[in-house]
Amino acid sequence: VISSDIAALCESIVGAAHVRRDEPTRLAYGTDGTSYCAAPDLVVLPGRADEIAAIARLCTEHLVPLVPRGAGTGYSGGAVPAHGGILLSLERLNRIVELNQADLVAVVEPGVITSDLHAAVERVGLFYPPDPASLARSSIGGNIAENAGGPRAFKYGTTKQYVLGLEAVLPNGDAIRTGGRTVKNVAGYDLTDLIVGSEGTLAIVTRATLRLIPKPPETATVRAFFESVGSAARGVDRLLAARVLPAALELIDGASLAAVEWHLGGVALAPPGTAALLLIEVDGSLAAVAAEIGHVERACAEAGATRIDRARDAAEREELWRVRRELSPALKQIAPIKFNNDVVVPKGKIPELCAAVERIGRDHGVLVPTFGHAGDGNLHVNIMVEDTREARDRAASAERALFEEVIRLGGALTGEHGIGLTKAKYLGLQFSDVEIALMKRVKHAFDPAGILNPGKIFPAEDSDKSTPQRR
Ligand SMILES: Cc1cc2nc3c(=O)[nH]c(=O)nc-3n(C[C@H](O)[C@H](O)[C@H](O)COP(=O)(O)OP(=O)(O)OC[C@H]3O[C@@H](n4cnc5c(N)ncnc54)[C@H](O)[C@@H]3O)c2cc1C
Repeated sequence: VISSDIAALCESIVGAAHVRRDEPTRLAYGTDGTSYCAAPDLVVLPGRADEIAAIARLCTEHLVPLVPRGAGTGYSGGAVPAHGGILLSLERLNRIVELNQADLVAVVEPGVITSDLHAAVERVGLFYPPDPASLARSSIGGNIAENAGGPRAFKYGTTKQYVLGLEAVLPNGDAIRTGGRTVKNVAGYDLTDLIVGSEGTLAIVTRATLRLIPKPPETATVRAFFESVGSAARGVDRLLAARVLPAALELIDGASLAAVEWHLGGVALAPPGTAALLLIEVDGSLAAVAAEIGHVERACAEAGATRIDRARDAAEREELWRVRRELSPALKQIAPIKFNNDVVVPKGKIPELCAAVERIGRDHGVLVPTFGHAGDGNLHVNIMVEDTREARDRAASAERALFEEVIRLGGALTGEHGIGLTKAKYLGLQFSDVEIALMKRVKHAFDPAGILNPGKIFPAEDSDKSTPQRR
């Protein structure tokens, strides 16, 4: 527990109204999108970068853990203050500082909500493609820290492709600038790319310069139903062979579909025998979209689709996306505990991964609805169990088996949610001791006192540090 002297110093930096010690606030800020919770000692809500620098300096001097937090939608426990200390919420830094059409950049503070940025840039005909499904709530700072992706990543890339430059505060309070506002920039080590995806463990992002592109004028959407994941994968291969690069290419398996059908009150969304659904969107000029959506339908038909629906207007497009959007709430209803994984494998290994998921589910007696991004091999594998010690243990061993399989297939433990707290103990499955030691030296170069977001990414060495509990 940190002293009242530290709390008073924080108040002198950000103002008493922006330091909270009451238990309901501490508990509310001790969680994220996972079921983990650890209350911080203090919640501090700075309004400016210089205040963040002063708080960081204080934490380094007094060896107080400091945990940055955006909107708290993270799916790997990244913003959960595992070791207590100060929770630094960036929510008050929420201005779009500049929208520059000549340079095609937006300069934003980290607390800007992703969909607010989308709306602002689209009003002037521009486009910021990164689109995590959480975009109505997640912050740009959190997107940067996790290198967030989304359905559009296959065609447009993930957050890192759009971060041109950063302003950030190091744990000792020093302010730095990285990158700039040009697409090309190879001067020195690429510190921007190092900070993007560093899960709030290297520096606190206080401002970002983001790349924008012209908004594609037209979009068309199709969904196709298949009797096996293998035939859906063949559909994907065929449409790529027809030289179509879809703006979204989402795969939903039969178990996920059944969960949504149940959640929506038993409506039949798919033909009987459906084991996979593909949701495919193309964008571009009117002529290109008309030609490409035809190729998409042909590719799906040739791969054995049992039904193909094309949206004729915005309302029908919304209806086609409905199944995808209802997945999260639907899964919550089928079991109280979700081990939420976002593994990624090379695209060609998706059928093998889906077969392995089915086998793992059977072997461990757990339900594993799976859906995700068929273009980039990033699948959300959700291990659903009852809230008992025995069921959690079964889920944990199913999760380990999943990770081992993913690494065997040449993939990675996480494609967009990050390692955070939830997967730290598995880091050694993907990296050697030499590689982990090198990463730790990078962490040490940024944060020699080890105060910034401790307990994340690296497996715990110190058994005295307790792991936060699931709620
Ligand atoms: C329903 C749902 C759907 C989701 N879908 C997707 C998806 O499609 N794609 C995807 O990628 N993710 C998805 N996520 C996960 C999550 O929304 C993303 O990881 C998002 O980027 C987190 O943003 P946030 O502002 O909520 O960050 P938080 O949860 O607050 O923090 C996440 C991490 O970022 C760090 N951080 C936050 N702000 C800063 C900063 N300014 N400087 C340094 N570090 C910082 C924190 O310390 C923490 O480690 C989903 C989550 C939910 C709940």
